[in-house]
Amino acid sequence: ALAIQRDDTQREGGLLTSALRERAADQHYLKLSGLAKSFGSTRVFSEIDADIARGEFITLLGPSGCGKSTLLRAIAGLNNVDAGQIIVNGHDITHLPPQRRGIGMVFQHYALFPNMRVVDNVAFGLRMKKVQPEERERRVNEILRLVELTDHAQRFPHQLSGGQRQRVALARALVVEPQILLLDEPLSALDARIRRHLRDQIRDIQKSLGLTTLFVTHDQEEALLLSDRIFLMHQGRILQQGNAEALYTRPVDATAAGFMGHYN
Ligand code: ADP
Ligand code: MG
Repeated sequence: ALAIQRDDTQREGGLLTSALRERAADQHYLKLSGLAKSFGSTRVFSEIDADIARGEFITLLGPSGCGKSTLLRAIAGLNNVDAGQIIVNGHDITHLPPQRRGIGMVFQHYALFPNMRVVDNVAFGLRMKKVQPEERERRVNEILRLVELTDHAQRFPHQLSGGQRQRVALARALVVEPQILLLDEPLSALDARIRRHLRDQIRDIQKSLGLTTLFVTHDQEEALLLSDRIFLMHQGRILQQGNAEALYTRPVDATAAGFMGHYN
């Protein structure tokens, strides 16, 4: 009886430590360390360090030209980096090809296939992955419902509004069930009303799927409204990381203060 008891405690101990380990791993789900990138002699970003929890919504905020898109593309594997590491859930993905990273990306300009119907645009990634037709149809329908495009499934991109096209792009990124979602100014080509609607929709979907998300914008209001945390980027460096309140009330320096709208 004694032996059995000890066995049980050990098993519980084992479960407990693995649960704790998992929770700790969730706190450090996406780690960027020492990332740097130059094009020729132009340094685009350097000393990028960040520790992002599973399910967190991070906004990368900074003026045009500060390196946001290049950093996002590097995380997606569309650019290489000159130095540093990208670790997801303990795995080094720095040198993996884009399609093996479990990352979905939406760009500022929709980048849809103009000659394909909505349904085929969305199914494209699943076709590439050789997902069987029945499973493909099920997942495409599910994701079209999620982005409220079921009624537009048979249309071509030119028959859609800007906001609808961007929802197709979002659906296309989500359908392959990524662990991480990267959004590069997905709202900036849209008019104000559509923009607000899609912004809220993105946030709802992100929350419901628990997706770790990096959202790029140069719009302070968007950053303040959407994010769990904001990374303020300036000239290729992350100047400050924190929640909206911290960035707004305790900017690290005059540059951060200026960008958060404090003009003296
Ligand atoms: P942001 O998205 O913040 O506006 P980018 O990442 O697009 O900034 O660009 C950062 C800098 O890197 C800019 O000065 C840009 O001209 C430069 N850059 C971006 N892509 C390339 C490239 N393929 N070749 C050379 N320079 C580039
Ligand atoms: Mg950009």
